[in-house]
Amino acid sequence: GDKQAVTVIGLGPMGQAMTRAFLAAGHPVTVWNRTASRADEVVAEGAVRADTIEAALAANELVVLSLTDYAAMYALLEPVAAALAGRVVVNLSSDTPERARKAAEWVGRHGGRQLTGGVQSPPSGIGSPQMSTFYSGPADVFEAHRDTLAVLTGTDYRGADPGLAALLYQLQMDIFWTSMLSALHSLAVARANGISAREFLPYASSTAASVPDFLAFYAPRLDADDHSGDVDNLAMGVASVEHVLHTTRDSGVDTALPAAVLEIFRRGIAAGHGRDSFTGLSEVFRSSRG
Ligand code: NDP
Repeated sequence: GDKQAVTVIGLGPMGQAMTRAFLAAGHPVTVWNRTASRADEVVAEGAVRADTIEAALAANELVVLSLTDYAAMYALLEPVAAALAGRVVVNLSSDTPERARKAAEWVGRHGGRQLTGGVQSPPSGIGSPQMSTFYSGPADVFEAHRDTLAVLTGTDYRGADPGLAALLYQLQMDIFWTSMLSALHSLAVARANGISAREFLPYASSTAASVPDFLAFYAPRLDADDHSGDVDNLAMGVASVEHVLHTTRDSGVDTALPAAVLEIFRRGIAAGHGRDSFTGLSEVFRSSRG
């Protein structure tokens, strides 16, 4: 065929889904995984098993890594680093921006080039153009492989800094984990009061769906460091968070999460932001930089 051949190293749920998506689109795929048996299914579906990691690297210019983190990459590639010469390493393992930058340097020292990816999709969404992956690294490398990478998800190239895709991914995870945890907490309070998660679901969803409008309103103000208290103020916010905390306590549910929120609100008051919008808390976050 005329489709670019790809090597996939790392066959967790993600690497397997990626291998299947490449195969389905007609790309020849060579695979390797530390635990060899994890390759069995995709090999039965048409992928070629490399017997060694060196053979996997030698097979194709384009090498996709789908590992737990960058430490796993060093564990696998350090002993065979000479085989990186001339390779394009598309690192779709999530980790910190700093580690992604260091890894790009390290791959470069061995004659390869790295594209960093931040995949915003569960394994079930791999192969769907509605899903999206942040990419960063050398623009020419991205352009050369854009069509092949688009087999996995939609592509969103953000720039040359190899840390950028990792950073954008972590920014989204910051929102994801805290918002999912707050929903989990709210549902625990609901259930402690005899309201099932399914019963409360429409209300939980409607609150979650209101967030984009608030973000759209506050984002320009944040960029302008404008924390005017014309539509909300922190003093009112503290009272509201206290009510959440007390409702939680009265329901016999763990208070750690609302207590942490209240502590941040109180630091905002102590810093003199009581008459400002709750967005004044961004000054509290900023001043905590170490
Ligand atoms: P897994 O953690 O299940 O994948 C682990 C892979 O890394 C396996 O191939 C495993 O090999 C290998 N591995 C881990 N540690 C080492 C090591 N020290 N040496 C060699 N190989 C190692 O992750 P997923 O497949 O779920 O995800 C892969 C990446 O994608 C992760 O960075 C994850 O954060 C990211 N991601 C995942 C999402 C998801 O929903 N799953 C969503 C978005 C991003 P072995 O089989 O031998 O253990």
